[in-house]
Amino acid sequence: MANPLPAPDLLHAIPWDALLIHFSEIALKGGNRHRFVEALQNNIQRVLRDDPVKVSAYHDRLIVTTQQGSAAALIEKVSHIFGISAVSPVRLLPSTVDAMRTAALETYRAAPPGATFAVRAKRSNKRFPMTSSQIQFEVGGYVKEQTDATVCLGCPDVLIKFRVSDNCIYQEGPAVQGPAGLPLGVSGRVLTLFSGGIDSPVAAWMTMKRGCTTDYLHFHTYPSPEQVLHSKIYSLIRDVIAPQGRSARLILVPYHPFEEMLLGSTIPQEYELILFRRFMARTACALARKNRCAALVTGDNLGQVASQTLENLSAFDQACDLPVFRPLVMANKNDIIDLAKKISTFAASVEPYKDCCSLVARGPQTHPRLVTIQRIESTMPIAETVETAVQAATIHEVE
Ligand code: ATP
Ligand code: MG
Repeated sequence: MANPLPAPDLLHAIPWDALLIHFSEIALKGGNRHRFVEALQNNIQRVLRDDPVKVSAYHDRLIVTTQQGSAAALIEKVSHIFGISAVSPVRLLPSTVDAMRTAALETYRAAPPGATFAVRAKRSNKRFPMTSSQIQFEVGGYVKEQTDATVCLGCPDVLIKFRVSDNCIYQEGPAVQGPAGLPLGVSGRVLTLFSGGIDSPVAAWMTMKRGCTTDYLHFHTYPSPEQVLHSKIYSLIRDVIAPQGRSARLILVPYHPFEEMLLGSTIPQEYELILFRRFMARTACALARKNRCAALVTGDNLGQVASQTLENLSAFDQACDLPVFRPLVMANKNDIIDLAKKISTFAASVEPYKDCCSLVARGPQTHPRLVTIQRIESTMPIAETVETAVQAATIHEVE
């Protein structure tokens, strides 16, 4: 059997001068649609702020125009932006069949000799004098006549696509999938509890993908917050937000107020971690309110470790007076790891780091009773400790 031909590198062989951006869910937004499209437009502009581009909105798509020949280089950046389902390079052609003939021939000639091809056309401009199938027949016939190439409609080596729209014709190149979801910023602000393990960066990414801007909260064991800024916590947050062209607020809280509260106490060891997590919950809610975040987000995953049983997750929630979102709660660990690799956080996540949870006694009670937890807490200065932690919190910008 003959070896298949290598796929032609159409992305780089053709001087694309624009990007065609498709969005999926935004199209369903009815009366709010304008707000969503505008947010996506601004987000694209922000990510491409160093490039000379213009982002224009049309009914079901956006067009990013740039200097001739330079559009392909922008695809990678754009393909990470939330709200985008697919992005393809395009070039803008005059509204003539001749322009399509010339473009199709040039495209076919960029492929290795012997490649099969097909022409596909879509026509939204009903005033154009030819139907889609007439265009396909005419342009395809021209390429065949000039090159003697074989047409393969089912699985061509080279697919040459045209969209005949109102003011011009687009030739469309190979599409790259985006993350889909909603544009960042349309769903409000939340506070992500960030530990720097595998799960919390993925949880933050999924939260942003649903349109939420997020601040980050990390409880640390360093003598000073500046040391956290040189740790993987800072760089991981940057890895999550940088593809969206944003900076983010990182709130750092020292672990020692909790440690000092435990000194000299005689609480059962198997309750220490639960108490610590409820201390995190209360401190997080107080800081969320102070910073106008409407909910907490965690990377909890049901049953992953002893502190994430149904009872322990519920004990955390009982200490909160804000909603707690857990994007990963029902996911399989392998799927979380795959996503962490896809968004490039996995490698840093598995680097060693001394998280405060590791200082608290291991082996937590897996089926704690809320009354028992509350009885233990009633013997301790919980509110004062939370207040001390809130006062000790420092805020930093992750650029
Ligand atoms: P991850 O993989 O996200 O680090 P984990 O597997 O280490 O989580 P836990 O230590 O039980 O699991 O943490 C569960 C969740 O609690 C984390 O996803 C995070 O949202 C929150 N959390 C844990 N430690 C901290 C911390 N030091 N600061 C802020 N939030 C934390
Ligand atoms: Mg986890």
